[in-house]
Amino acid sequence: MSTNSPVQLLKSYIGGEWTLPATSSEIFEAINPATEDVCAQVALCGPDDADRAVRAAHAAFGGFAALTLDERIALTEKLIAVFEARYDEMVTAITTEMGAPLDLSRDAQAECGPGHLRETITAARAMAWEKPMGGHAMLVHEPVGVCVLITPWNWPINQLAAKIGPALIAGCTMVLKPSEIAPLSAQLFAEFIDAAGFPAGVFNMVHGTGAGIGDALTGHPLVEMVSFTGSTRAGVHVAKTAAETVKRVSQELGGKSANIVFADADLPKAIARGVRHCFENAGQSCNAPTRMLVEASVYDEAVALAAAAADKIKVGDPREPGKHIGPVVSKVHFAKIQRLIEAGIAEGARVVAGGPGKPEGFEQGYFVKPTVFADVTNQMTVAQEEIFGPVLVMIPFADEAEAIAIANDSPYGLAGYVQSDDLDKARRVARLVRAGSVHINGAGQDYGSPFGGYKQSGNGREWGEFGLHDFLEVKVVNGFRAS
Ligand code: NDP
Repeated sequence: MSTNSPVQLLKSYIGGEWTLPATSSEIFEAINPATEDVCAQVALCGPDDADRAVRAAHAAFGGFAALTLDERIALTEKLIAVFEARYDEMVTAITTEMGAPLDLSRDAQAECGPGHLRETITAARAMAWEKPMGGHAMLVHEPVGVCVLITPWNWPINQLAAKIGPALIAGCTMVLKPSEIAPLSAQLFAEFIDAAGFPAGVFNMVHGTGAGIGDALTGHPLVEMVSFTGSTRAGVHVAKTAAETVKRVSQELGGKSANIVFADADLPKAIARGVRHCFENAGQSCNAPTRMLVEASVYDEAVALAAAAADKIKVGDPREPGKHIGPVVSKVHFAKIQRLIEAGIAEGARVVAGGPGKPEGFEQGYFVKPTVFADVTNQMTVAQEEIFGPVLVMIPFADEAEAIAIANDSPYGLAGYVQSDDLDKARRVARLVRAGSVHINGAGQDYGSPFGGYKQSGNGREWGEFGLHDFLEVKVVNGFRAS
């Protein structure tokens, strides 16, 4: 595979300027997971840079919050225009940094950018920003203040746009710390914001690690809110640090979502769809349907169908067009997935597709075999831990009550999936699954619907009007109206 020279990301974006880290001289090398080449060299900021960025956001807050909603929408519309003009650059950046195949990067990963920004504008226009209350009061919504946004690498633009869009529209100022594993898309997004002409300091981006600058950002006394997407482990740490100064913390964390397949579903369709969905983005989606629960009477048939569907999934070079899956994001992540596949085997689960090791012909790059485990119990490690790779586990259930019990027997509660031709039953089950979103028979989710989790999957709701509320305070002004 050919190599390009790495992109130099030596400057962060603070107070409207591209600026070198003040004291840190640490360089992080981001790796293209398909080629194992260095794709970017990132100058990592230190705590003093984090402090500078927060102070720039703090200085910009009053002026930006005072703009009218129409003025903030106009700036965001410019951002969408810049994004669309440079869309192909974003597609390439995502594919290069985290290995999503081109079609997925273009049709879904990058598309989340303009998609969320547009939907946030629509929601803001429809929202009641002020609402009379009681005899004389007025309820008003106001921006929370300076926000710290921390994002992971797996759907990088989805997470950026789902935070930055509502923060901007709400009138907040912000400091973004993207995952340094996927810095190219965040760098481009920062360039787009710069080109759109937002006032200096409204948006700041610091490249850096969680260990290096996480606490400096999330514990900063001038920060009012932290919006975090990532692992539950890091989310807990962030919440503890933010608690010292009583910040609002919105968390979008991991998942281990159940896909309940009843015997009355269109089995071939439901199983193939479930397998494809689980493996999309090489299984690196927080809401992936990774536990397939199948009614016992059709379990063997479902296992055979799932194995056949997994065998059909092609692994391939992400730079090629097509519906194949790419590599997983890093060497460390590859090793974690392998360890979990081995744990499944050691605990007695039966491999019916894929298994340990790399697919044939893919010695270079972090490619994983699409893997399906049958004969899984919900107590096994592969059923409890988020694997975040192309690994599906299949668990039988006896009846509706047991299906619901297994689905809810997880520390997570991000999503749920129900497959049945009996819509009344599907609705009944959907209501009882403890998760932030449930999908019946393959229904997708619009950008305007809230996205977030129950239990250890988090406590925020992003997207659309719910996403805006994460970044808004409510104030009641008594005596606002003559009584
Ligand atoms: P991590 O939690 O490791 O990292 C996420 C972000 O948090 C990175 O920018 C990371 O920086 C940063 N971070 C890590 N530790 C700290 C800290 N102590 N203080 C501040 N920031 C910190 O997750 P991954 O990047 O590995 O992402 C995958 C995870 O994200 C999965 O568990 C997945 O389920 C979850 N996720 C959840 C979604 C949801 O909406 N619920 C959506 C997408 C993903 P650094 O890389 O330097 O450590």
